[in-house]
Amino acid sequence: MKTEIHRLSLGMCYCYLIKQEGLILVDTGFPNQGKKFLKELTSLSIVPKDISLIILTHGHNDHIGSANEIKGLTGGKVAINQREKEWVEQALKPLPPPVGLWGKIMMIMLKRVTTRIHFPGTPVDLALGDEDFSLEDYGIHGRVLHTPGHTAGSMSLLLDTGDAFVGDLVMNGLPMRIGAGMPIIAESTDAVKKSWRKLLDNGAKWIYCAHGKLFQADKLQKLL
Ligand SMILES: [Zn+2]
Repeated sequence: MKTEIHRLSLGMCYCYLIKQEGLILVDTGFPNQGKKFLKELTSLSIVPKDISLIILTHGHNDHIGSANEIKGLTGGKVAINQREKEWVEQALKPLPPPVGLWGKIMMIMLKRVTTRIHFPGTPVDLALGDEDFSLEDYGIHGRVLHTPGHTAGSMSLLLDTGDAFVGDLVMNGLPMRIGAGMPIIAESTDAVKKSWRKLLDNGAKWIYCAHGKLFQADKLQKLL
């Protein structure tokens, strides 16, 4: 079985297209990324309507901002943890607490940016619970796991190959941080570490972040 993984940069947020027998998208980036999204798909010779599912790792505006536009372009079902369903449907813009000094500094900027961000709400098709959600029905060998910490409803997609798409459960790059580690904003740093453990215990080998570079999962082991 062949797995294709394509990273799309949709406004300071890496989103991922995953193709096996089916084709799904992880996260949708900042608002107004529809044109960029279509351009990237064209360059990959991918037809938008082939995307059957859009998984939102969590409900922050840099991940859900273009959900409405991309749902319209693809017709894909939108899935998110039930705790953050309203954030997507009502286009809410909550900000969790900062972690550390750099987090506090970045939060000042984030607050300013966030007040200026506007995007439409998007109906959620699948409000996921905390139990594993299999992707076999979508032609993907893997599942969505509840991995709270950055937010209480954060989810990660883990393929059977060991590729893990974690949203903001780990950050690995500027301007967020140098090197892989704790997100600079998080509702619970204890929960973040438990979720890292959960991913490792379930066979994660490679970590794909929304902010930062791909890295090998055993790096997380050293940070626990
Ligand atoms: Zn986030």
